[in-house]
Amino acid sequence: MSLVLTADNAMGTVERGTPVILFDLDDTLLDDLAAKQYYMPRLYDACREHIRREREEFYSAWKAAIPRYHSMYASGQMTFEEQRFHRVRDAFANPDMPDQTVAQSITAFDRLFKEGWCPFADTHATLDALVGFRKGIVTNGNTIQQQEKIDHLGIRSHFDCIIISEQAGFPKPDRRIFDLACRVLNCTPADCIFVGDSWEIDVIGASRAGMAPVWINRYARQRPEELPEVRVIEQLRELVGISRGLASLIALTQPRRDKSSTRSP
Ligand SMILES: [Mg+2]
Repeated sequence: MSLVLTADNAMGTVERGTPVILFDLDDTLLDDLAAKQYYMPRLYDACREHIRREREEFYSAWKAAIPRYHSMYASGQMTFEEQRFHRVRDAFANPDMPDQTVAQSITAFDRLFKEGWCPFADTHATLDALVGFRKGIVTNGNTIQQQEKIDHLGIRSHFDCIIISEQAGFPKPDRRIFDLACRVLNCTPADCIFVGDSWEIDVIGASRAGMAPVWINRYARQRPEELPEVRVIEQLRELVGISRGLASLIALTQPRRDKSSTRSP
């Protein structure tokens, strides 16, 4: 297994105890909502003759099908291609679509999805401003596609490590993927802030792994539970303002981390 690391970190030159900021990718650095708004109308138009739903109904069905099948892919129940195949059949409400037509629809989706990839307005400025912190990405997904997203956004040079679940062999919230990031960066979970949009995958996963979670809640979602160690931000750029306090944020989680060892997973 080869992981994506820089030479410096691969050689283990990183000083222990230096704060590390780890990021989720989708909906944290990459604006997935903007991508959907770009590609969904175009996908509907391109595949209209095969879709047995009205436009708005298709949008809802497509958005619901993404997490349903992606979680089955992430947990190893389906391959990456299978989950896309099932998503198309399901969202198109056309279970009898010939395989070749499904494949053509996936090709159209792939092209449109990539055209829609874009960073959030504050992604680049935030990463630029966090110079001096070691940074990494820990993302669930297909290795090739996640690498393409990172290159498309032009953010690769900011990161000391990039860990993708397919390549790692386990997805967030599995603790092992967070531990792997620490091994690559030669740090401990207590050195790490983890920034992500998913409460279940990023916040709870990072918290159980012993990292300090930062929940990015751009769309005013209700906080699922009160966890005092979770810092909540609405924009990525807020990280810059709190960056000076990151070390103390890490320290804040230390008492709970000691207790977390007795918590059921
Ligand atoms: Mg995400």
